[in-house]
Amino acid sequence: MSQVTGVSIKVHPDDNVAIVVDAGGLSAGSLLADGVELLDAVPQGHKVALEDIVREQPVLRYGEVIGYALEDIARGRWVNEGMLRMPEAPSLDTLPLATRRPPMFEPLDDYTFEGFRNNDGSVGTRNVLGIATSVQCVAGVTDHVVQRIKRELLPRFPNVDDVVGLTHSYGCGVAINAPAAIVPIRTLQNLARNPNLGGEVMVVGLGCEKLQPQRLVEPPVLPGTTAGQAAPASILSLQDERFAGFAAMVDGIMAMAEAHLEKLNRRTRETCPASELVVGMQCGGSDAFSGLTANPAVGFAADLIVRAGGSVMFSEVTEVRDAIHLLTPRVADEETGRALLREMAWYDDYLRHGSADRSANTTPGNKKGGLANIVEKAMGSIIKSGNSPIVDVIGPGERIRRRGLTFAATPASDFICGTLQLAAGMNMHVFTTGRGTPYGLAMVPVIKVATNSRLARQWFDLIDVDAGRIATGDASIEDIGWEIFRLILDVASGRQDVAADRLGLHNDLVLFNPAPVT
Ligand code: CA
Repeated sequence: MSQVTGVSIKVHPDDNVAIVVDAGGLSAGSLLADGVELLDAVPQGHKVALEDIVREQPVLRYGEVIGYALEDIARGRWVNEGMLRMPEAPSLDTLPLATRRPPMFEPLDDYTFEGFRNNDGSVGTRNVLGIATSVQCVAGVTDHVVQRIKRELLPRFPNVDDVVGLTHSYGCGVAINAPAAIVPIRTLQNLARNPNLGGEVMVVGLGCEKLQPQRLVEPPVLPGTTAGQAAPASILSLQDERFAGFAAMVDGIMAMAEAHLEKLNRRTRETCPASELVVGMQCGGSDAFSGLTANPAVGFAADLIVRAGGSVMFSEVTEVRDAIHLLTPRVADEETGRALLREMAWYDDYLRHGSADRSANTTPGNKKGGLANIVEKAMGSIIKSGNSPIVDVIGPGERIRRRGLTFAATPASDFICGTLQLAAGMNMHVFTTGRGTPYGLAMVPVIKVATNSRLARQWFDLIDVDAGRIATGDASIEDIGWEIFRLILDVASGRQDVAADRLGLHNDLVLFNPAPVT
């Protein structure tokens, strides 16, 4: 009987493990191309030892130490998470800053999309009425009104794509003056300024809450000034004496919405350079293919956007922390490097206060998909950032300030990261997934990229791009990277829908509140 020959991928010449590509995995006795015979059955996406590894010897993937062997591991054995001791996270005190010479990239001209220009200089990819809210108490009423507006008003305003209630769990019962409360507060302020809302934001408040609705539309007070110009917003409080009962509240909000819809309906798309793109990159439900297929392709697309003069954000502190030594050389200057290290240190402290560390990040699904620990996950995660220099670092809930590649410090938790990237001002979102998540956001289109073709086939109507073709040799990283870049331009122009929008799948906004509640 002839032996089965399996397909495996070794990422870096120094690696002593490879990943099994074959759908369904490989049985014991299978041969790999370089002559390794499997001693165990190895599931798809999991690691096989390419040489004998003795106890305490490092296990290398991506040319980086992802763990130390807890036992002797023979060539051909399945290397699973129970056989590895996780390394310490890199110290933040001794890292080289801005030492890498940036790659020489040819600028990319002539790429455009059809977008909605805003008065503040940003560009929207959708024309959406946003109804901001100051407190969870008003969420039920707001959701009710959003449904009524969709049924009764939107059909009269054909240039408006949607109406979205920016409901959330914050606003009252919180330590509003605690230093860390600035994070959820500025997140809500900046969500209302997202380019897809066109500056026509209205706010529904209750009246007695700690986060008074005016604060959501106050312009930031810059050093040396007393107050900025007020944003053109409308504010309504449900406790207002003029509302006798529920129907009156609903009528009041509907009337306010109609005035904003009339203004939004006058907006039209115009040709904008690709430099107006602000693309947030994220991954969720990762597997061992994430770092081989989808994330490298997204990283390639990120570099294309930067070459076109656009803005790209990558995030997810706990998935960056163990790869920080690979990022600090890439910062544009030492000040940006120090900002990056400050965000890492802040998050180390945040986790320590909760008696946790970055290893709390990995999920049972990650491990089933072949990721042994957060170190291996991080090495695959940061590839989304491509090769460009990191020109800026922003804190959670802050707005993006520069074109090029920005690190937006956020938790890795999918909807918190997405919400914070919305607040930062993204107008397109790219999300890679290996295990599968039906992720979607109401304010900004989300392009979902599968890391493996099994998922892309199983979720044929939920996934937008199949990057699994890279693992099977049917496409290159560059092919899929260009496909993602072109799809971003098509979706940004409204020429093409993403799966989540076709199916109407939109997740909640989820705030990051590191401050106490009362
Ligand atoms: Ca995530």
